[in-house]
Parts: sequence; C-alpha cells; structure tokens
Amino acid sequence: MISGDPLSRVLYIDLSRRKYWVEDRRDLFEKYLGGTGVAIELLKEECPKGADPLGPENPIIFAIGPLNGVFPLASKTVAMFKSPHTGNLGESHAGGRSAIAIRMAGYGAIVIKGASDIPVYLSIYNDKVYFRDASALWGIRSSHTVGRIIREREGEAGYRTIMRIGRAGEKLVTFANVVTETYRHFGRLGLGAVFGSKKLKAIVISGKRTLKVSNAKAYREIYDEIYKMAVKTPAMRKYHDLGTPANVVPLNNLGALPTKNLTQARFERYENISGEKLAERFLGRRLACAHCPVGCIHLAALREPYEKEPYFYKTTMISYDYEPIYSLGSMLGIGNPEGMLKLMDVVEIYGLDAMSTGVILAWTTEAYLKGYISEKETMGLKFRWGDCETYLKAVRLIVEQPNDFYGALAKGVEYASSIYGGREFALAYGGNEMPGYHTGPAAHAGFLTGSRHSHLDSAGYSLDEQAYVKKEELTPEKVADYRNTYSTRYNKGGIHKKSSREIRQLT
Ligand code: SF4
Repeated sequence: MISGDPLSRVLYIDLSRRKYWVEDRRDLFEKYLGGTGVAIELLKEECPKGADPLGPENPIIFAIGPLNGVFPLASKTVAMFKSPHTGNLGESHAGGRSAIAIRMAGYGAIVIKGASDIPVYLSIYNDKVYFRDASALWGIRSSHTVGRIIREREGEAGYRTIMRIGRAGEKLVTFANVVTETYRHFGRLGLGAVFGSKKLKAIVISGKRTLKVSNAKAYREIYDEIYKMAVKTPAMRKYHDLGTPANVVPLNNLGALPTKNLTQARFERYENISGEKLAERFLGRRLACAHCPVGCIHLAALREPYEKEPYFYKTTMISYDYEPIYSLGSMLGIGNPEGMLKLMDVVEIYGLDAMSTGVILAWTTEAYLKGYISEKETMGLKFRWGDCETYLKAVRLIVEQPNDFYGALAKGVEYASSIYGGREFALAYGGNEMPGYHTGPAAHAGFLTGSRHSHLDSAGYSLDEQAYVKKEELTPEKVADYRNTYSTRYNKGGIHKKSSREIRQLT
C-alpha cells in the first residue's frame, strides 16, 4: 500500500566506536507484523547470554510497526533491552512523537550498542547521525530543562522526538525511565538506567519524509472508519474526558484500589484524588500523541504562591494518569491532591518510574512503622502515611543514594526487602513493583506471568471485574482458559475472595 516505505531499514549506532550504519532487514519486517516481534529478534541477535544489563553489551532496541504514522492511534514505539531492574526482558512502550519521528526519519528500528566514555546525546536527522557532547547537560536535575536546552539548540522541529533521562538515569537507579516529549515515558523496567550506563543523555530523532499510499481511496476509507470510532463512539470517550483517572472511583468501589501498601483496598479519601475532582479543580490542558485524535493526556495546573512574594504564583503543568494517582496517592495514603501532584512532579523531574517509586515508598513506610528500619537508615526521616513532605525528601535521597539504605531502595523493593526484611509486604513480581489494579486473582496472575508487569499484559483485571459483576466463582481453570496466563502457584480451588493480605503473601 505504501511505495518507498522505509520501514525495513534498521539504523545501527555503536556508541563505543562512534559509528553508524543502515541495514535492510526485510527478513524481520516481513516475518513479524509489529515492532515488538522485530525488536525481540533484534534483541536476541544483539544481546549476548549473561549480559550485564548496565554493561556496554546490553543493546537498546527501538522499533515501530507498519501502522505507525499511517493510521490514527498507532503512536507507540517499543523499546526492548535487558532490564537492570529485574535482570530479565525489558519491554517498554511510549507514544508522544517517537514512532512517527522514527518512521519519518526513514527507519523501522534503531539499535544502540556499546557505551560512550563521555556524556553524549545523539541527533538523528534522516540519514545522518551526530554524536553531540552532552557533558554540560550531565548533572542537570530536571529532565524538563534538558529537553528545553536540546530543543533550542537543535533548531528545526520536523516530526521530532526528544527522548531523555533525568538525574535518576545518570545515577543508575534501576527503575529510572526515559521521558519523551515531556509527558510520555518509557516508564517501566529501567530503560533510563541503561541510557545512563551508556552515558547517553538523550536522543533526538527528526525526519521530514512523507509516505505515499498507492490506493488513496481504500486508505481514506479505513482511516475514516478508525477515526470515527475514536472520536464519534463512546469507545474512547472516557479517555478524552477524564482520562484513565476515571478508574479511581470504580476501583475504590470494587475494593480494588491499592491503598497504604495494600493494607487496605479502599481509600477513605479517594474522592479527593479521583479523576472527577482533579478535572474540576486542576485540569489545565489536554494533549495528544502525534496522530491520535483521542487526546487522553491530562495536565493539571498547580498554582503555588512564592514564599516571600504575596500575590505571586508559580504555575506548574503536571501530567496525571491513573497509575501515578494510585502509586503516589492512595498507595501512600495521600488524599491531599496538591501534595500528590507535587510528588508526581518531582518523580517526573528526576525521571523515575512512578509506579515503582510509589510502591517502594509504601514498603518503606510499612517497614519503618513495623520497626524493620529506623531513623538511622532513613537519615532522620519519619515515614507516616500521607506525609507528602517526607516523601518528597525521600525521592531525592533515593536518586542521590547517600547511604546503603537509599542505595538499596534505588534497586527496588525486592532487593531492599532482601536486605532489611519485610519481604512479606514487598509488592513486586519478578523484581518489578505491582501495577495499580488489585481487582482479584486474574489481574495478579497476569502481573506474575506478563513480561511487562503492566495491567495490560493480559487484561486479567477485566476478567476479575466480569466475575465480580456476574457473581461468579473464579477458578484457576477459568482464568487459564480465558487468558492462558494462569500460574500453578494458585492451584487450590476457589480464589475469588482472596483478601488483600492473602494476595500480599502470594506476591
Ligand atoms: S493520546 Fe492517549 S490514547 Fe492517544 S495515543 Fe497517546 S496515550 Fe494513546
């Protein structure tokens, strides 16, 4: 359908030798339908067995699929790497302008190998790759500032993406993320730390190609059909109106909102941090990824007075979704929306995965309250549920790692609890902290077996909800039949009514 499609071109970049080249990998793009299949194959080719996730031998693969840049909503790029957080497969997806920029620059995939000896950022303009010195950017606290500097320096925009890391990636926090276009993320499994280990501060990708379709009429018909489904039917409406924060109220009503490290599954102050309340009080703007008519990205405008200047206010735009609301709100007992938004902003600035950060802070609070750790480890911080100020300080300490305790937290909750105790309330699967859908056993089975540890791995939450609505007993056999994701760990009869505590023990 598309003549002269650049999709099968793979750009290889070797940071150690400062070289790049292009190979035609039609063999992969014809065999696999989407970017994920291609990326897995490239990872198999490039990542040696036993590779150190933070060593130069761990490659970073970005890949897109045939629909990116062609049809509405197809906006995601997949990143594939060996995860420094779990030591297992790292798969992470992000939108923004990343996918369209890769395709318009003329590629279907980009493979980054080796490591630089000084901080660099890469500028990819169509067929040219520039290795820019990033020494002056290394150490800048905010990933926003890094994005702004690069934007001004690089000039012309085109279909441009700027992927970058914050201080957390530089400090090799194993759940550091990569931010793209300020409000989108390769969030889970520590791609930011892999960037940091390669001294790779950022990647700019820009292209100005156009794609020519050979059958414009047929293309238009399909395009319009998808477009109409996205904007004129209720299918995507909730994502535009309230966004994923619309889930807070129903999940709380179901008893499925992880609260205070899952010591509760309902939060007494849930209304304050619900999608409805946040939209009413703070919604300042909606954004969309390139080529998406839905516009589900919600930005809160947080207005704060300057301390010594009456009637002077600073307004910060903070993107909020359901997952950061659960992890940095209910999970920490924070029902004060201003405090929760500030915490989200700091996590964003440092470039951390919000889910892992929230679960780690929740474990720390429970461990502190139960006496597993004391102020000696926390450097004087007294952790209490709902205490935003302490959590804000703790995030900085996790990134900077001034002592062994914060160094352990920077490796995740499973690692920290293996040293300080409290594994029975460390909410991680295979080393990765849990997502925010405590709907029942099918969701947890999906987290356990899915490679991305996201609620979308198997949509088990939807099976739990169906069983709840139909008042059905959810047996392991039903879960296995339905999603083929069930683990033998749960093989003893009816498990639909597992309590929060029992689920915590199973993790
Ligand atoms: S704006 Fe929202 S719905 Fe549209 S592609 Fe981006 S994340 Fe998906």
